[in-house]
Amino acid sequence: MNTNSKNKSKNFIRHIIDADLKQGKNDSKVCTRFPPEPNGFLHIGHAQSICLNFGIAKEFNGKCYLRFDDTNPAKEKEDFVTAIKEDIDWLGFEYEESLTYASDYFEDFYQYAMQLIADGNAYVDSQNSDEIKNTRGTLSEPGIESAYRNRSINENEGLFERMRSGEFENGENVLRAKIDMASPNINLRDPIIYRILHVEHQRTGNDWCIYPMYDFAHTLSDAIEGITHSLCTLEFEDHRPLYEWFLDQLELPSQPRQIEFSRLNIEHTLTSKRKLATLVSNGTVTGWDDPRMPTLSGMRKRGYTASSIRDFCSRVGITKKDKSIQMALLENSVREDLDINSPRRMAVIEPLKIIIKNYDSDEVEYVDAVNHPKNPEMGKRKMAFGKELYIETTDFMEDPPSKFFRLKPGGEVRLRFAYIIKCEEVIKDEAGNILEIHCTYDTDTKSGTGQSEKKVKGTIHWVSAKENRPASVNLFETLFNHSEPKSEADINPNSLTVCRNAIVEKSIDEANSGDRFQFERSGYFIFEQKTNDGLMQFNRIITLRDSWAKIKKN
Ligand code: ATP
Ligand code: MG
Repeated sequence: MNTNSKNKSKNFIRHIIDADLKQGKNDSKVCTRFPPEPNGFLHIGHAQSICLNFGIAKEFNGKCYLRFDDTNPAKEKEDFVTAIKEDIDWLGFEYEESLTYASDYFEDFYQYAMQLIADGNAYVDSQNSDEIKNTRGTLSEPGIESAYRNRSINENEGLFERMRSGEFENGENVLRAKIDMASPNINLRDPIIYRILHVEHQRTGNDWCIYPMYDFAHTLSDAIEGITHSLCTLEFEDHRPLYEWFLDQLELPSQPRQIEFSRLNIEHTLTSKRKLATLVSNGTVTGWDDPRMPTLSGMRKRGYTASSIRDFCSRVGITKKDKSIQMALLENSVREDLDINSPRRMAVIEPLKIIIKNYDSDEVEYVDAVNHPKNPEMGKRKMAFGKELYIETTDFMEDPPSKFFRLKPGGEVRLRFAYIIKCEEVIKDEAGNILEIHCTYDTDTKSGTGQSEKKVKGTIHWVSAKENRPASVNLFETLFNHSEPKSEADINPNSLTVCRNAIVEKSIDEANSGDRFQFERSGYFIFEQKTNDGLMQFNRIITLRDSWAKIKKN
């Protein structure tokens, strides 16, 4: 796998910017923007756009605006603004000096629209929305000109003013750019630039009852802010001629350049706000920040680190090719970061009791456990070892296959940081369920003492039955079974497993909410909080090894 070497590689957008700077364009300045619509939470696709826009501004000593594209009050909420800011803060980008809202420019937009009218470049259409839709034409047929298309400038000015002052109902009139109903590009067939919407706006209240359409508001906002390179996803390629038309017709403070790149798609998940919103409203997930969601807030709750997401975005890179990235690539970035930074602990997710028959029942021995095998600076801790312990249920098999090097009847295994034990007896209930395993330990085999040369093939983790903390552990799988999910029918019914009988070593008591650990042999986990019934609640961030490789192989 290609790793950090790729991080600094130049994508085609950086080449364009380099060339523009060489030619002295834009007074040698670079200015970008990230323009989310506050109608949902940000997802991993947005992270790519954030890293690109803020990253480029930083690299070229420029500026990146965080501009809320709040032009559709029917769908937008202040809560989403708050959530989006929180996500960008978390990702580690700064926008204090560059936070704007499209609604800051509503008066400017109105004046520019008036200018279009005055120049004969816009008209008020009184057709209803169905009529407008039905006269747009198709890819093979031109559209049909509206009967209102040739209204006089005076009449248009009067009508547009009356639209603003609230004289008309929703949908009674729209303002359209007067371009070309026969254009092969449907976006240029007299696109609507203003519509009537008697809806209170989260920031401007009831000041307006007409709102600008995306293409118009977006182009003008870019020009007003002095954006030099307006980076957007490929679905806007066909809108670029319209973007440029506005720039050509109006005398604007600057002439931004739109450049498109391909959206980030990841297998087994969705990167569409609209589809994610459906999962939330249907209750398929617990909310936008459900740890299974590809939202930044979900991934944060899941335990992913911001730096691993930035690393992933830079590895994926920016292209014009449409493709789906494997989930394994994202997980690799997360795993690499956690491997380096997470202290090791022991936890048993599904406990099986072990009784060491030849160990004194009153005795407790404290063994040294290293916190990180590759980083001695992370130090050591003491773990209580005693007569009664728990191991993972899956680490014992009564009738194992030949390559099973964990505990089996008559077999020996090393308990990590402690002794070698031997399975002497399997205790069952009447129904044949295993209740506990009786073992003996070999007194000469204490780890780190070099007392004995004895070697066994398997080493397993364990937790003292006397000194531990009860825990509840959430295990996640992908939200969708299908690699290219389309609908809720592709939901993975096993995407969440809650293990409420888990046991963690006592030292974790000191953990703060948000602390991450590697539970040896199980994966990386984040401590959320204590549940109402006193259990320490953890989310499994990710397994230790790439489980995708195995799935592919089978
Ligand atoms: P969605 O389809 O998820 O609702 P959107 O484009 O409608 O996304 P916006 O709030 O308009 O949502 O997006 C803000 C910015 O993020 C836009 O510039 C958009 O191009 C970019 N963006 C959105 N999704 C992706 C993605 N999957 N990959 C890269 N950039 C994206
Ligand atoms: Mg959008």
